Amino acid sequence: MIAQVIVDVAAYPVDRPFDYAVPDEWQALVEAGCRVKVPFGPRNVLGFITALKEETDVPQGKLKPLSQLLDIEPVLTGEMLQLAQWMTKQTLCFEIDALQVMLPSALRAKYEKTIHLTGTLDELPAELQNLFGNKSSIPYKKVEVAGLLKSLKYSIGQGIVQIKTVVKQQGQVKVVRKLKILDDEVKLQQIAADIPKRAKKQVMVAEWMVDHKGAIFTPEEFCQTLDITTAVLNALIEKGAATYIQEEVYRDPFTKNAVKTKPLALTDEQEVALQQILTAMKNELPTTFLLHGITGSGKTEVYLQAIQSTLEKGKEAIVLVPEISLTPQMSERFRSRFGELVAVLHSGLSKGEKYDEWRKIQRGEVKVVVGARSAVFAPFTNVGLFILDEEHESTYKQEDSPRYHARDVAIWRSEFHQCPVILGSATPSLESFARAKKQVYTLLTLKKRAMQQSLPTVEIIDMREQLKNGNRSMFSEELAEAIRIRLEKKEQMVLFLNRRGFSSFVLCRDCGTVVQCKNCDISMTYHRSQEKLKCHYCGYEEQVPHECPECQSEHIRFFGTGTQKVESEIYKFFPEARVLRMDVDTTRQKGSHERILDAFGRGEADILLGTQMIAKGLDFPNITLVGVLSADTSLNLPDFRAAERTFQLLTQVSGRAGRHNKPGEVFIQTYTPEHYAIELSKEQDYEPFYVQEMQMRQRFAYPPYYYVVLIQVTHEDVLMAAEYAGKAVDWLRMQLSQNVGIIGPTAASISRVQNRYRYQCLIKYKKEPNLTATLQQLIRMYRTDWVKKGIQLTVDLDPSSI
Ligand code: ADP
Ligand code: ZN
Ligand code: ZN
Repeated sequence: MIAQVIVDVAAYPVDRPFDYAVPDEWQALVEAGCRVKVPFGPRNVLGFITALKEETDVPQGKLKPLSQLLDIEPVLTGEMLQLAQWMTKQTLCFEIDALQVMLPSALRAKYEKTIHLTGTLDELPAELQNLFGNKSSIPYKKVEVAGLLKSLKYSIGQGIVQIKTVVKQQGQVKVVRKLKILDDEVKLQQIAADIPKRAKKQVMVAEWMVDHKGAIFTPEEFCQTLDITTAVLNALIEKGAATYIQEEVYRDPFTKNAVKTKPLALTDEQEVALQQILTAMKNELPTTFLLHGITGSGKTEVYLQAIQSTLEKGKEAIVLVPEISLTPQMSERFRSRFGELVAVLHSGLSKGEKYDEWRKIQRGEVKVVVGARSAVFAPFTNVGLFILDEEHESTYKQEDSPRYHARDVAIWRSEFHQCPVILGSATPSLESFARAKKQVYTLLTLKKRAMQQSLPTVEIIDMREQLKNGNRSMFSEELAEAIRIRLEKKEQMVLFLNRRGFSSFVLCRDCGTVVQCKNCDISMTYHRSQEKLKCHYCGYEEQVPHECPECQSEHIRFFGTGTQKVESEIYKFFPEARVLRMDVDTTRQKGSHERILDAFGRGEADILLGTQMIAKGLDFPNITLVGVLSADTSLNLPDFRAAERTFQLLTQVSGRAGRHNKPGEVFIQTYTPEHYAIELSKEQDYEPFYVQEMQMRQRFAYPPYYYVVLIQVTHEDVLMAAEYAGKAVDWLRMQLSQNVGIIGPTAASISRVQNRYRYQCLIKYKKEPNLTATLQQLIRMYRTDWVKKGIQLTVDLDPSSI
């Protein structure tokens, strides 16, 4: 038997499967999707078996055997192996990268395997019974050394034992002490008979045990059920009627118990949307739906009821959310509806906890997964529904290899499983809305808020006017007045600081020098709490200087509006206000998002102040005011999606107001009120924005009218970077047809990161059959030759920002 293996070596000539002989003793054990170690050159490297076959072109003497078998149960399904091949072609990555990204990181860390008895000992083949003795778990190594992997695999198939993996850095496995009643009926009867008759309780318990041989309880459960004291129990343990065992428990990442919710009676719009989804589900059609619903229109309720039908059909559902740690309310709603059937792949989980959740998914112990981007690879085998909430979010695109988009992967998997996909958003990406208009996706629309509330009224405030009238504070008079009214009425508000593309920096007021990172061409960010400057690209830190490094002036100070600054301004203007601040500084600790939001929900503060992380998902009845302190910062990014992002952000954050009974009001402060992304956010109406933005995209030849590819070349030496970027562009111009636009090479907007100079080039095309082959060839040139000169080249076929 021959195993076809993809090895864990990321190098061009290696990016293909290699054949290895499967030693006889492993023939019954190996399957496609198992990990192995194989000899590769002088080393032993990790590999994935992608297929098993009988024939090979490798000559007899040259064929090497597998050197180690890491799994006897596959870690990747056949579907995943096919998906990896598709991703390799689609994103031009190494196949090994595509395979690795599908697995939880715990499988790449140091770990230990143990075998756990889940059935009873006497069901096991005799040779394994011996190894177990009277233990409930034994190390995997023990079975391997004894040469009993075949029996083990058989027993796993029979459901008598399970392999569990314990991640080493994880420290102690969480175990609980449990009580196991002796398995041997005859012996139990004997013990019962030997107990003196006057020890009535003991006799009663011993007789009860005869009927419950082999059963496992917690000691508390046991004593409660039989209404006995621990003394009685201990007496029986002493006589050998039961033993204590250690049982591994899943580390439950949930601290609070969700209150169960029931399906709501749907509004007419929700009903129409749901019915179309259910029809596709019933007919097993891989339809992609774009659920475009204004904020508060009840998209989540549609998801929940669609999932319910999926579960009723015995199928599983995968729900993706942009950044799960930022949306605790969202995952809570899934837990509340489906309880234990939900696994939440929270980014705050440790490696071990994530792995536990992944195993529950793999074993089918849960039926719904809620998670960020990589949850799209959840190893369910019978998926009935995929959901991407806030489908326009850029976090769905992975920035490193493999540069996949979760939306594309979900759609691929939906075709494999013949099931629908729901893309939901109040502000869909232009690409998705254009596809819906062309009927590539099926558009479902929710135009009204679920409880008939009207959308909040939005007022745009020109901050230039405020300045002219002598108001130098960060609050316009209108917003300040609105805050005062809320404080009086004891209603809550959200103040939003748009910090995308913006940070507090240190500026010399005499010569204009901004303190830059010494490794990257970007200004250092000021962190007040530690009085330090930090680079957000490479992590470099330094003390805040007291004089300008260029002109030695003492007039150097930080500039810009950070959340901390806003907080102190609030206290200055509104001394009675209670403020909760939510930003990177206050949410560093695990669970701090939840704590802040819970406190706000309980009414412990009047104002929730924060950055992008408060823009989405919040649903609090008492919020009646949203203030956007600075709308334009994200407009100034050198990116064709800057207007789209700004509009999305303003619409999302406005949607936090007036979601329940009380009407909401929104104030958007800006220095560019005439920009259409800001003007149109007043109406919170997506379509006019779409129409206008589409005209811009057409005029400047950007997506969705054209596809773009971003090619980036970096080197420590600026001349080398420029030279090879030039070579890449020349070569592309030669290969690609006339109507393909090639822009560049130009220095990237942040021209140096981690001491590497960056040049980039943008390809714009509509139809270019030759493109993939050309890019593959470019990558080959790079991987075989340029890489030796210290060049790094990346190709991003659908960049989320440029
Ligand atoms: P979206 O995700 O579209 O922003 P949500 O799903 O958060 O909207 O719904 C907004 C509010 O309306 C929530 O408080 C939700 O419980 C409520 N809601 C949704 N659907 C219904 C319904 N059919 N009947 C009553 N309330 C609903
Ligand atoms: Zn200076
Ligand atoms: Zn840096």
